Amino acid sequence: MSRAVTGAAVVAGVVGAPVTHSLSPLIHNAWIAAAGLDAVYAPFAPPADGFSAFVQGLRGGAIRGLNVTVPFKLDACAYATDLSERARLAGAANAIKFEGARAYAENFDGLGLVNDIERNLGYRIEGKLILMLGAGGAARGAILPLLAEKPAALAIANRTPEKARALAEQFSACGDIVGMGYGDLAGAAPFDCVVNATSASLSGDMPSIPPTCFAGGCLAYEMVYGKGLTPFLRLARSAGAVRLADGVGMLVEQAAKAFAWWRGVRPDTAPVIERLTIPLN
Ligand code: NDP
Repeated sequence: MSRAVTGAAVVAGVVGAPVTHSLSPLIHNAWIAAAGLDAVYAPFAPPADGFSAFVQGLRGGAIRGLNVTVPFKLDACAYATDLSERARLAGAANAIKFEGARAYAENFDGLGLVNDIERNLGYRIEGKLILMLGAGGAARGAILPLLAEKPAALAIANRTPEKARALAEQFSACGDIVGMGYGDLAGAAPFDCVVNATSASLSGDMPSIPPTCFAGGCLAYEMVYGKGLTPFLRLARSAGAVRLADGVGMLVEQAAKAFAWWRGVRPDTAPVIERLTIPLN
């Protein structure tokens, strides 16, 4: 049943291009309805070079905050008056909160990943050997929250090894982190948890990693969601991983962080994750 939106409704939304595929309106509006809030969450698609002007036009009214997705995560950092440490180190923001003349930028992607792994999957990162594949925006945003959980070590491997090495260098003061190419994984010890933070699965591809990366019984986490058993998850399963997950929980958990940041209420993530989950078989 649709709900009328009053003139006083508090507005939030997601800015992206394209944005029609985004699940954020479905997620946030479900929580708004569950909490009985006079609010609405809408998708916005400004032109590729028009982020600042578009966001500026939304200011001053009922707008509370925005999620930001591809290709505007860097524009969001540039637009903000204040950057959190996570957004600054990630060089990208996926959420903005407006307070008077201030625009605070945050990056909740990595916290969403860690919350999903620890809270929803019941997997403790502390003391584990973690491998993350990819060195793009998603990997960059995940490094600080992963290191905050004190893994034994975090290895970043990427198709373009220099990017992984540069990330490891940048975050070296935050924990035990090393960057490498996929070729370097051949002689490496197996990992307790392997996170695929590449976009390879979007095209049915996968990073060229050896099956020996996966320790018996390890957790294999695919950040891409809604694709079922991707080539990465298939390899992980055949190599002995017993726990497989895709990024739907990460998506919902980062949304919950933004919802709580704007509205002061932590929503219940479990029903939404259940609703959006596609079985991995
Ligand atoms: P970027 O475009 O910033 O980075 C892409 C990364 O994937 C790079 O490391 C790139 O390597 C690598 N890559 C791309 N194609 C291949 C391939 N065929 N083989 C090996 N490596 C490849 O993307 P993001 O970091 O922003 O996003 C990565 C993925 O994470 C996306 O697919 C997105 O769907 C997902 N994501 C999920 C979220 C969630 O909430 N579940 C949140 C954010 C992202 P190279 O550097 O060599 O080009």
